[in-house]
Amino acid sequence: MGDTVKYLLDESEMPTQWYNIIPDLPQPPPPPLHPGTHEPIGPDDLAPLFPMALIMQEVSTESYIDIPDEVLDIYRLWRPSPLYRARRLEKALDTPARIYYKYEGVSPAGSHKPNTAVPQAYYNAQEGVTNLTTETGAGQWGSALAFACGLFGIDCEVWQVAASFEQKPYRKSMMETWGATVHSSPSPLTEAGRAILAEDPDSPGSLGIAISEAVEVAAQNDETRYALGSVLNHVLLHQTIIGEEALLQMQMAGDTPDVIVGCTGGGSNFAGLSFPFLREKLAGRINPTIRAVEPSACPSLTKGVYAYDSGDTAGMTPLMKMHTLGHDFVPDPIHAGGLRYHGMAPLLSHIYELGLIEAIAIGQTECFTEALQFARTEGIIPAPEPTHAIAAAVREALACKESGEEKVILTAVCGHGHFDLASYDKFLSGDLVDFEYPEEKVAAALEHLPTME
Ligand SMILES: *Cc1c(COP(=O)(O)O)cnc(C)c1O
Repeated sequence: MGDTVKYLLDESEMPTQWYNIIPDLPQPPPPPLHPGTHEPIGPDDLAPLFPMALIMQEVSTESYIDIPDEVLDIYRLWRPSPLYRARRLEKALDTPARIYYKYEGVSPAGSHKPNTAVPQAYYNAQEGVTNLTTETGAGQWGSALAFACGLFGIDCEVWQVAASFEQKPYRKSMMETWGATVHSSPSPLTEAGRAILAEDPDSPGSLGIAISEAVEVAAQNDETRYALGSVLNHVLLHQTIIGEEALLQMQMAGDTPDVIVGCTGGGSNFAGLSFPFLREKLAGRINPTIRAVEPSACPSLTKGVYAYDSGDTAGMTPLMKMHTLGHDFVPDPIHAGGLRYHGMAPLLSHIYELGLIEAIAIGQTECFTEALQFARTEGIIPAPEPTHAIAAAVREALACKESGEEKVILTAVCGHGHFDLASYDKFLSGDLVDFEYPEEKVAAALEHLPTME
């Protein structure tokens, strides 16, 4: 056997349903609450923001949801995505562990985000929506939604976090190429943006602020809805196509994962990879350790509190019970922009509370160090976000070298880093630094959690 080992599914083997883990959990997750009344919200409360089909998926108690034919057809542009065995990396590490990675960088936008952008645009188009607003951090989600909206003839308006708007001009070009309009956030176009700019005209922005801007515009316009690229149940649901494919591919490989690691910003690629394996674990068929990896500079699972908090900075979204650093926490400008969110998916937070998954935090210099080794052995230049997953996989593989255990490690390289070469430049020239965990800033932000009676 050569060193290049990949497992490809035939198009006809592509899963045709998404997996909803909620009915399989020992307890259901706590409900979202209305930001004003603090009462549980119903589907109608979400109707100004989302099409009813997505709202029904958000609250669904069905285990499996059929993927519409039109969505499957678009998925086939890049799905099924490949699963690789990282033999060259294993050799470089001199580890007895077997490392597998699911590669989502093959999508047109370069990440896993189109897995949910396409169905979101589809359901909106079905219900006559003509405009979608959204936020983007690293630019990955904005690109994915711009691509999907283009295919369904929907106008797409994106608020891009100012720090990344500056750092990644080509993400903007990409979104505009697919027909979207892009604003730097905070922007003077919304009340939420103007309020932030009044306090800090040089605000680097944050996902929380950009969400406030996009939600505000959607709430005020009848034909406009809002799309979120992570965090919500329906987003995690759409991403389970990753794990369903990976289950089949691991079977082809004849291996069962002992450890599954993935990077978590809002939690969608990690949930997408791990939930189908967690289903198998809950059913007693396999027993992998499942571990989320977050950046030390924005550690919502490992250092945040589990509490009801707002999804955005201005407090316009429903309150969600989640691990949070506080909705007005503005993380340091680390290069993994997609991991700079103050909260974690409520469903993933709940699963963490149930003790079904673990979490660790890793600093960005270790991540980039391992990313270089990965690029130089496996060839793929990962986006800054999945460098966290790679660093965690390497830690595990090196522990196996110590112990002599032949563990099977599975991870997802959820995007390529072709638009992130400025961060690689910085690392290569020795200018990339780790940020301390900002304890005081988090403490200050946590003082502004909504008070629950
Ligand atoms: C958006 C993004 C993330 C973070 O979002 P999750 O919902 O946690 O997956 C991670 N990696 C890439 C490549 C992204 O685009």
